[in-house]
Amino acid sequence: MSETSNCTGWLRFPKIGLRMFRFDFAFVIRQRSVHCLVDEARKKSFSSDMKWGSHIDAILKKAFNRLNGIRRLKSVLSRVVKETLYKSLVLPIVEYGSVLFDNCSACLKLRLERLHRNDAVIVTGAFKNSSFARLLNELGWDSLEDRRKLARLSLFKKMTLSAQFHKDGNVNEILVPEYLHSMVPPSVGDRSGYVLRNAGKLDNVKTRLVSSYNSFLPKTTRDWNSLLSDNNDLKAIQQSKTIESFKANYKKQFLRTPNPLYRIENGGNMHQTRLRLGLSQLRAHLFQHNLIDNPTCQFCGLEPETTSHYILKCPTYTVHRVRILMGLTNLLDAPYIAGLNDDKIVQLFLHGDPLLRPPRGWLIDLQIDTTRSILMHKLLMADVLKH
Ligand SMILES: [Zn+2]
Repeated sequence: MSETSNCTGWLRFPKIGLRMFRFDFAFVIRQRSVHCLVDEARKKSFSSDMKWGSHIDAILKKAFNRLNGIRRLKSVLSRVVKETLYKSLVLPIVEYGSVLFDNCSACLKLRLERLHRNDAVIVTGAFKNSSFARLLNELGWDSLEDRRKLARLSLFKKMTLSAQFHKDGNVNEILVPEYLHSMVPPSVGDRSGYVLRNAGKLDNVKTRLVSSYNSFLPKTTRDWNSLLSDNNDLKAIQQSKTIESFKANYKKQFLRTPNPLYRIENGGNMHQTRLRLGLSQLRAHLFQHNLIDNPTCQFCGLEPETTSHYILKCPTYTVHRVRILMGLTNLLDAPYIAGLNDDKIVQLFLHGDPLLRPPRGWLIDLQIDTTRSILMHKLLMADVLKH
């Protein structure tokens, strides 16, 4: 009852912070009967049965409105700008309070991921049918599900730390209110006087319903315990001293890192991206996706028009190819060139080489720009698919 009155007080407080608002909902989830205390401005997006459908409808509507604004400008904005706009205008809407609605149904989660996918298509200029996993790898993004998991674990880490301290022992920053800190379940080591291997594991929160089983506290406690394995890297993540080091270690272990070479703006990188994704206007790609019935190259008719045929073999582009390869020999060492077989040359054109450090790596990338312009010329001629 005292918790209920505390919650009521916070929600009525006129200068309530956004961060505090999120915590209040954590409490509301725990005490379902007090969900009506949600402030009037946001009440409309929550249904009385505490399901997340109407809430997700509301945030998706708002997010798609903004995404459509970016879509209208996609031909004039660079990839980096489109990515920045998405992360600053759309993602905050989709992820606000995401630690709470992470127990929504699989169908609702899929709708959220569809928004994420739509934006990945807009940013990269890829075709709609492109693989979502490849799009995420291309951009170095993580799925919204993975991002929500990190958000949940970060909040849980704050709950276990409660506050951050200076070296002299004084409190530097209070991370969560005391009532959230007190929600952290006791560990096996707290209950037992013995030295046990699983002393750091927290007691799982007992639940009666599946909906409660997947709600913030039970689900995050299980995820937290899963970090306590024999793997020292995972243990190091869990035992991080600060919230910043926890996030950095977790990202390093579990999340993707963007490849800076993929983000170079040169006017032709959209087509190079499509080749990397395995769905471009090359006939072998279209055939693979059941869009045409014959993969054979329409210019030479010798073999299927695959990426390697296009870059290395098709006689239509011999002049361009010789020029590009000559350019590469001027930039790279002779032993490196000697070690390049056909597959490695294709890899070099599409992905660069992480072993080539700047500035040499960047020079090669600039050289590859010429190849991109050739590719673009060919791909623009065969305008089969539309966005
Ligand atoms: Zn050909």
